This record gives sequence, C-alpha cells and structure tokens, in this order.
Amino acid sequence: PSPPNDAIRLSLRMIPYGSEQSLLVARDISNVMRLEQVRRDFVANVSHELRTPLTVVHGYLDMLEPEQMPEWDSILRELRTQSRRMTQIVEDLLTLSRLEAQESLPEERVVMHSLLLTLKREAEGLSQGKHCITLDIGSEHDLKGSAKELHSAFSNLITNAVRYTPTGGRIAIRWSDEEHGGRFAVSDTGQGIPPHHIPRITERFYRVSTSRSRETGGTGLGLSIVKHVLNLHHARLEIQSEVGVGSTFMCMFDREHLLAPQSLTEEA
Ligand code: ADP
Repeated sequence: PSPPNDAIRLSLRMIPYGSEQSLLVARDISNVMRLEQVRRDFVANVSHELRTPLTVVHGYLDMLEPEQMPEWDSILRELRTQSRRMTQIVEDLLTLSRLEAQESLPEERVVMHSLLLTLKREAEGLSQGKHCITLDIGSEHDLKGSAKELHSAFSNLITNAVRYTPTGGRIAIRWSDEEHGGRFAVSDTGQGIPPHHIPRITERFYRVSTSRSRETGGTGLGLSIVKHVLNLHHARLEIQSEVGVGSTFMCMFDREHLLAPQSLTEEA
C-alpha cells in the first residue's frame, strides 16, 4: 500500500570512510516523492479526461464522407490521422500510469511458443511484406509474469523494428536460454541509434529525430512502456546499435522468472 501523504521518505547511502569505517548519508526525499506522485496523478487524470472528447471527435470525423466534399478530402484525412495519433498518445499515457501504480504483476504462465508465433504474425501484418521477418525459438522455457503486459512490451520492440527499418531490411525475433536466464531479442537492419542517445532512449517522449519519428506515427512512449513492464518482471533492457547497420533490443529475464515447459512439468 502507498505510504500516507505526510510519511517521510529517506534515501540512504553508505560511503567508505577511511580504511575501516563507513559513513551513512541520509537524505530527506519526501518532497521529491510527493511531487512525483502529484505528477503521476496529474498525467493520469488529464489522460482520462481527454479520452471522452477524443472519442467524440473521432466518431464525428468518421461520419464525414469525403465524397460529399471533395475539396475537403486531404484535410479530412489529416484530421483523422492526427486524432488517431492523439488517441494513441492518451492510451499510451494511461498504460504508463497504470504500470507506474502497480507494485507487482500477476505471476501467470506465459506460454512463449504461442506468444512468439502471435508476435511474428503481427509483425508480418505490420510490415506488409516490406521486410524479411524471421523467428528463432532456441529455448523451451516459458515465462512467469503477465502475458498481457509482456505481449505489449515485445510488440512495442517489434513495431519499432518495422518502423525504423527501410523496405527490404531484415528483422529477427529470438527467444533463447542464456547463462543468467532467458533472453528475448529483436534485431533489425534499420537506421540504428547514435550511441549518445541510447542512455536516454527509454525516457518519455525522448526521440532520436523528432520529425522523422513523428512521420512514422509513434508516440515516443513505447520504450518507456517496455522499461516499466520489464522492471515489474525484474528484467532489464539492453540495447546494441550501430548507425546505418541496425539495432538489437534485448530483454534479459532472471532464472527465477523462467518456467519449464508445461509438458515436462506434467510428466514430472
Ligand atoms: P516512438 O513511438 O517514437 O517509436 P519509442 O519510445 O518506441 O517511441 O522509441 C523512442 C525513439 O527511439 C524513437 O523515436 C526512435 O528515434 C528510437 N528507436 C526506437 N527503436 C528503434 C529502432 N529499432 N531503430 C532505430 N531507432 C529506434
């Protein structure tokens, strides 16, 4: 449960002091935490309030027939694109607010084999034959966590790969066992990311090239969602990228979040 509003939050840090002693530094971060909560509530409330008027705008725009007003054709198309974009931003902000408010997720079995096949099918739908998409299932393990949230995180990575890879490029989806646990990876042969952008790329609305990213229709919130979902699964995101060569986004899961395949568990 959230602590009461007037609770004092301390940040504690041990600093070595001389050869045998340490200093314990306590910093009062109550105000920072309270402000952060105000920000979260504000974003959640505004997004929620915007949802209804946007649905109305969307609905009326869909009712307008361009055939009746040919001179409005391009304007109508632009209005529809922008209202869809706004709706997507609001939905993504609501998703982020929901994830931020959650302290843990359901620990259900996420059957990786079927999830991966679904992801590949969705990727092919998005790409519409413009990329060569491969799937490599090198691990039989399933994951423990929320199927819905993991699907959304993996989907975000795949959508980005399709978005930022030119026609004719390759996209590889991989699920493998690693020393530490499991690894879900999406590689592309797209435009790549300059190294100085990588540390900030999971921040809300952070984009490498604002105009280019707007054209591609993203909201700038996808990787923030990925990071939040992974945090809730005690997993981490690793990014390798080279400009003009491509990128690989890797989700690293601990051994504790892996489950032996169901058939093996049943036999045992
Ligand atoms: P967006 O909705 O703009 O794609 P994201 O949070 O998903 O927002 O990604 C943030 C930014 O990171 C993107 O705007 C883009 O500049 C960069 N990016 C993400 N994925 C890739 C990728 N696979 N290849 C190149 N750039 C990427």
